[in-house]
Amino acid sequence: TSFGHFGFDEALMKSIRKSEYTQPTPIQSQAVPIALSGRDAIGIAKTGSGKTAAFIWPMLVHIMDQRELAPEEGPIGLILAPTRELAQQIYTEARRFGKVYNIQVVCAYGGGSKWEQSKALEAGAEIVVATPGRMIDTIKIKATNLQRVTFLVLDEADRMFDMGFEPQVRSICDHVRPDRQTLLFSATFKRKVEKLARDVLIDPVRVVQ
Ligand code: AMP
Repeated sequence: TSFGHFGFDEALMKSIRKSEYTQPTPIQSQAVPIALSGRDAIGIAKTGSGKTAAFIWPMLVHIMDQRELAPEEGPIGLILAPTRELAQQIYTEARRFGKVYNIQVVCAYGGGSKWEQSKALEAGAEIVVATPGRMIDTIKIKATNLQRVTFLVLDEADRMFDMGFEPQVRSICDHVRPDRQTLLFSATFKRKVEKLARDVLIDPVRVVQ
């Protein structure tokens, strides 16, 4: 496939061309049309596969469709990632393409300033990229609420579990409305991740890098 098959608008296409990507990666070719169709998906893919853009682009399209419909406050897209480094990489990619539509992105991770992150969240963000522990903290102190989230991504689910974040990940999923779209990415698909997928995804399509 080529990027033209995704049906993105000219603004996003221009930004993709500017990033000098010549063609979609295999995971992008498979996952983007599924995500755009509104279905839940499981992506078995590693870092380096282009998985970040595979969920960011559909998330941006979803936000553009939703933002007029949902006048309340709070993020529409939420991405959970295991580490600060990964969260920051996702943030960079989300900013790069999100600026096409003036979409505000906030990154919240353990070790960063709670005060600064809370202020950024309170200022309004349509996308939040967070590590699970810090996300729970910001919900507890009411710096953000998840009532408007309708597009949830669990990135590197296996690593989040290896780091002991299973209770936090599950609790955050419980805070997000059930009529959402959920994408789960994982390099491996061991029993615990499979169980999570059964619990938090609805009739997912499975794609392999
Ligand atoms: P990721 O697997 O999402 O961490 O992406 C790995 C790297 O590939 C990142 O530096 C991306 O900017 C880059 N990338 C993503 N999609 C493409 C593409 N279609 N063509 C070339 N590079 C890409």
